[in-house]
Amino acid sequence: MSFLGPRPLTPTEAAAVPPEGLVRFWIRPGIVSAYRLRKGIGVAYKTEYQLDHEFYYRQSLGGDIGLLARAIPGTILGKHGIADAAPTLTFFGIDIANTSMNEAIDWIIGRTRMESHSQICFVNPDCLNIAYTHSDYLKVLLRSELVLPDGIGIHLAGRIKGTPMAENVNGTDLFPRLCARAAAEHIPLYLLGARPSVAMAAATAMQAKCPGLQIAGTHHGYFDPNDTAAVLHEINSSGAKILLAAMGAPRQDLWLAEHREQLLTPVLIGVGGLFDFYSGAVPRAPMWMREIGMEWTWRLLQEPGRMWRRYLVGNPLFLYRVWKEVRETG
Ligand code: UDP
Repeated sequence: MSFLGPRPLTPTEAAAVPPEGLVRFWIRPGIVSAYRLRKGIGVAYKTEYQLDHEFYYRQSLGGDIGLLARAIPGTILGKHGIADAAPTLTFFGIDIANTSMNEAIDWIIGRTRMESHSQICFVNPDCLNIAYTHSDYLKVLLRSELVLPDGIGIHLAGRIKGTPMAENVNGTDLFPRLCARAAAEHIPLYLLGARPSVAMAAATAMQAKCPGLQIAGTHHGYFDPNDTAAVLHEINSSGAKILLAAMGAPRQDLWLAEHREQLLTPVLIGVGGLFDFYSGAVPRAPMWMREIGMEWTWRLLQEPGRMWRRYLVGNPLFLYRVWKEVRETG
């Protein structure tokens, strides 16, 4: 046994390892691995075998030191024990689906085949702080068909409530996986939002990554309210089955809720600033930061003027409100 390496397997688990996982037997088992860290923080979207494979073939002294350094914050912040995840996480009356990335994508794909609309919102502490005082946004979250948990703040709040978050199903990590599934199943997407040309650049980048991906159309998110009818017409005539609106929360979610009956698109998703990341306009936090739940510090450093209130005031305020809710409701 060594300090770094995949967790030791029971004889039953070892007998069930598939051929693509055999590399695991060439590595000495250990206490700390990338999979364990990511699982604890809820970002283990790759399988244990894929991460073992990366560990074996890309191992370096620098990589090992980095993994050791991340083990301390990762272990403190990560999930402890094996408590089963409840099906929902509820904060201030808002039910958040406590699901996995794959299940959420299956659900969304299934909804593209329905006649009725499905609205999906991602919520982070900032969104829940807004909903605390913004009754229209609260109503949208309560009426949406699916609300998904975004980020370390929800993970920590789940720990305060004693209901661990199963996985961090945030829009930024969901988007490329959804594009891959949509490409495989020939489901057209429409990208609405961000500054002019950003949605188009994100579409081009995703089409390069997911051959066959159909982008039915794109439009920036700074249109005049007088042009709303024209934008709705463009989306409807595109034939898109999934509309991704990236105009920031709560603007995008309110817009989708207000216009859902005029839209022919069955699946409506508010996705925040992610076109900026996938277009290459704004770099996303490196994986090592995400592994220890510190993506928010990256965004804070990128835009301190806009983000300080959201993170430095908003995050503690949200956790305080959750703690208060737990105390009051028992
Ligand atoms: N945005 C937009 N229309 C607006 C205001 C904002 O399309 O009227 C875009 C903006 O360009 C950015 C995204 O909405 O791409 C909001 O990003 P932010 O980081 O605030 O979103 P979050 O993910 O935090 O909700």
